[in-house]
Amino acid sequence: MEMTVDPVCRMKIKERKIASEHDGMKYYFCSDECKTSFDANPGKYTRSEEAHHNLEHNCC
Ligand SMILES: [Zn+2]
Repeated sequence: MEMTVDPVCRMKIKERKIASEHDGMKYYFCSDECKTSFDANPGKYTRSEEAHHNLEHNCC
């Protein structure tokens, strides 16, 4: 089963209420804040290794 993870803060998503699309992929977020961050700079969050690095201080 596929695990849905917020690409911004890497939290596991239980309810897929907040979604955004980028490059034909659908992403889900724990909060509007995370979605806003993602929409502002999706590339930052979709390059996973780098994103993981950058985001340790940047959660909700
Ligand atoms: Zn989040």
